[in-house]
Amino acid sequence: MSKPFSPAIAPGSTIGILGGGQLGRMTAIAAARLGYRCHIFCPEPDAPAFEVAAAHTCAAYDDAAALDAFAKSVDAITFEFENIPAASAAKLAEQAIVRPSWSVLETAQDRVLEKTFFNRIGAATAPWRAVDSLDSLTSALKELGTPAILKTRRMGYDGKGQARIASPADAAKAWDAIGRAPAILEGFVSFSREVSVIVARSPRGEVNTFDVVENVHVNHILDTTRAPAQISAEQAERATAIAHHAAVALDLEGLLAIEMFVDHEGRILVNEMAPRPHNSGHWTIDACITDQFEQFVRAVCNLRLGSTERHCDAEMKNLLGHDIDGWADILSEPKAKLHLYGKTEARDGRKMGHVTRLFPRWKKGTK
Ligand code: AMP
Repeated sequence: MSKPFSPAIAPGSTIGILGGGQLGRMTAIAAARLGYRCHIFCPEPDAPAFEVAAAHTCAAYDDAAALDAFAKSVDAITFEFENIPAASAAKLAEQAIVRPSWSVLETAQDRVLEKTFFNRIGAATAPWRAVDSLDSLTSALKELGTPAILKTRRMGYDGKGQARIASPADAAKAWDAIGRAPAILEGFVSFSREVSVIVARSPRGEVNTFDVVENVHVNHILDTTRAPAQISAEQAERATAIAHHAAVALDLEGLLAIEMFVDHEGRILVNEMAPRPHNSGHWTIDACITDQFEQFVRAVCNLRLGSTERHCDAEMKNLLGHDIDGWADILSEPKAKLHLYGKTEARDGRKMGHVTRLFPRWKKGTK
């Protein structure tokens, strides 16, 4: 059955964003360029997005009165943070246009639902088993072997809520380390590269992907993204097709980032997804005609999607903690673009900003 026609949400309207981190900040900047106002909803009083948005609400994600007032004050609602309580998302959907829909967030919030979804649409993942007790962990380890990684089903990011298991004897220690929470055990993928693809889909059904990029993580946190990924054209096509297929199968209205492994046989295995702008898409601000934040705004507002053409190659490096003390040197580099998030306290490992270095395109004739 085709969906009822939904009109574009025109410039001048107000976009509500749940979450006020750097992703919300860069979305609000892109939205302002197109003439939208943003209203940020975030529980942290010094959220980086507050200072670049037209309005903000500082309240907990389950504060019913604040959510009501927020929904009434905006023309559409989206997220820059996917771990919103189900009840809050349902409440907002009763009163406002919410994109992407709750079912997309629900799949992305739970690693078991996420892996089930990707396997159902024919995308390979690491072998996995759902685990809810030490007994089930022990049997899953017998089936998948070691090394393996135990991850909490929910609320894990940047390596939090994860334990590597080198031998079956480590099972109890790993189960304790993740707080005995419902979990997933994944076989360890010996990968040659980590790549990601960002796809946008609008309510009118337009789909567009950015080039596949390559990511290097240090201490489980993204360190560097290189665009484009140094993979074969077939691998890039396969990764892009998975992203396109996922966006359609989820009936996505918004942006979706999918992280994948390329294993030593050259196969692409999906690791996880995030239904929002993604750290591995920051390079698009300086190297593409339309960047991921503008594309996100276009998709949420049901505008035509923009061209994702890459006009130069790029390397994005995250600036964590005191890395930002090097801001003046970065500003003196002619081909470096510095982005700072306005965070006052430079704690170790905290994402304070990023720098994108631009290079002439090396591959002729690619998108
Ligand atoms: P995640 O929180 O799932 O993104 O995991 C964080 C990082 O841990 C990934 O980017 C990988 O570098 C590594 N990792 C996660 N799952 C696996 C796996 N099944 N096999 C090997 N490495 C993994």
